[in-house]
Amino acid sequence: MVCDEKSKLKALSDIASIDITHEFGSILQNILKITYETMNAHSCTMMLIEENNKLKMMASYGLAPDYPERVHEAAKKAGVPLTFSPSGVVLETGKCYIVPNVFDEPRCKPWDNLAKEFGFSSQIFTPMKTGLKIIGLLNVYMVDPHQFTEEEINFVAIAASQASYVIENARMCRTLKNNISELNDYKENLEKKIKETHKRLYESEAKFRDLFENASDFIWASDAEGYLITINNAGLKIFGCKMDEIIGTHFTKWFTPDSIKIVQDDLKKHISGEKVEQSITVEIVSKNGEHRWLEIRTGAINEENGVKGLHGIGRDITEKRRLEQELREYNEKLQESYEELKEADRIKTEFISNITHELFTPMTSIKGFAELLRDETMGNINDEQQKSLEIILRNSDRLIRLIKELLDAAHLKKNRMGLQFGLVSLNSILSKSIQDIHPQAKDKHITIIQDIQPLPRVWGDEERLMEVMTNLLSNAIKFTPQKGKITVAAGEDTNHVNISVADTGIGIPAEKLSCIFDRFYQVDGSTSRKYGGVGLGLSICKGILEKHKGSIRAESNGNGSTFHITLPKLAPFEGEWNVQPGS
Ligand code: ADP
Repeated sequence: MVCDEKSKLKALSDIASIDITHEFGSILQNILKITYETMNAHSCTMMLIEENNKLKMMASYGLAPDYPERVHEAAKKAGVPLTFSPSGVVLETGKCYIVPNVFDEPRCKPWDNLAKEFGFSSQIFTPMKTGLKIIGLLNVYMVDPHQFTEEEINFVAIAASQASYVIENARMCRTLKNNISELNDYKENLEKKIKETHKRLYESEAKFRDLFENASDFIWASDAEGYLITINNAGLKIFGCKMDEIIGTHFTKWFTPDSIKIVQDDLKKHISGEKVEQSITVEIVSKNGEHRWLEIRTGAINEENGVKGLHGIGRDITEKRRLEQELREYNEKLQESYEELKEADRIKTEFISNITHELFTPMTSIKGFAELLRDETMGNINDEQQKSLEIILRNSDRLIRLIKELLDAAHLKKNRMGLQFGLVSLNSILSKSIQDIHPQAKDKHITIIQDIQPLPRVWGDEERLMEVMTNLLSNAIKFTPQKGKITVAAGEDTNHVNISVADTGIGIPAEKLSCIFDRFYQVDGSTSRKYGGVGLGLSICKGILEKHKGSIRAESNGNGSTFHITLPKLAPFEGEWNVQPGS
């Protein structure tokens, strides 16, 4: 059956030279075809042990394509285990199993119908081995019952062994191909990732470069010896030079001697790992000789083997320093002016106090003699003389009042106003002052309305409180036109006595209300001629009331002005009188 020696050798060589890079199925087909032709067989099949350790018919030649399926179904139907079949015996013994007549072979019983149908009668099952390992079976089927010769058995065995190596190599090649393809995928993936990372890196680099270059603060880096490595645009502007004029230069080229010391100290501290200042202030000389002040924060550029350099961020504080200096000088001048002003004020107060004293004595004697003359104590006078003396007396009174006001103001200023405190009746002060002012009100046909409750006595200086009331009432009359109305009201609450003087006069603009209690302040200076006065009355009232722990405020709503006074009531006596006999 089998052909000559030469054809057998060629067949074996053909099997050995099958291209293992081809598709796996076609490799198997090729092996079967060569064996089939050399053996003049009916057909050939190949079974391989798969990764899951199961034997599977992988290819057939000379048989219908459904043959492997049918073999499997027949075995299942007969319920025989693999060990029972000729293939099972081959796997167990590692030797060929020869079936000269399928129909006489009990182990082929489950498949003899198939043999009949497909038209073969004898079979040889051959192990496919690589070394000791069996990877499958190469089976040759013959049409007639056949006693296989040793020659034939040897050929199939060698062909099977050859085929085993081809298959192993093909499998390896397949794995290698898969690995290469996987590797290629991996490489492609990696390349893609590298590209993306590069892109991101580039973008972030560009972002940081942009930040670095366009930051309003200046940013720089130097090596550990102090040679500049990089600097941004803001830095170039400060140093007034181009990049290539500064990169590579040593910092000592740009700093003043004092600042060189500061920077050197800072550098040393960074290198030795000592604690550094949060920021240092240094002076540099720019390319055009301009001195500039910089405030910088420095940090070390650390590498495994120590400090590699310094980096820093800073800002130009020249303008800030200049302004600070100006402010300092301005403050000093202000302080000087304030001192001068204080001294001038002291001299003025002193002067007023002295001069008023000097005026007061002669004025009282002028007034006294004028009164004697008017009262004809020194002889008779005619009507004309009488009228002149009245004018002298009226003006003396005005002058004396003014002198008194100036004296009071000076005393209050120097805190030298002596007050005579005692229990005083505000009701009596109010009625007396209203009575005193009555003639002036009558002259201008001004009505004085009284809405005064009985008030508790307070602790105060009667004369001074009288002065306050007189002042407020005479202002009310002064600044109220003819036929106007003045209302004096008084009452008490839990802790205070409240008095108000309201008029229907010219009123006070809202923005001036807080100023009228200042010394020499008049709402409209030009009216002082019309109304008289020098702007001291209210400041004296305020001073007197404060000495009584009281207060004064004004309000005005366009229908005149109202002045409110508050004085503290005496604290109620809570203990018991304990009068000792004889005390
Ligand atoms: P003067 O001597 O000018 O009256 P005052 O200290 O008593 O000084 O008052 C200060 C200023 O307050 C006055 O010049 C006036 O402009 C304003 N003033 C005081 N009382 C009244 C009032 N009742 N009505 C309108 N203005 C007033």
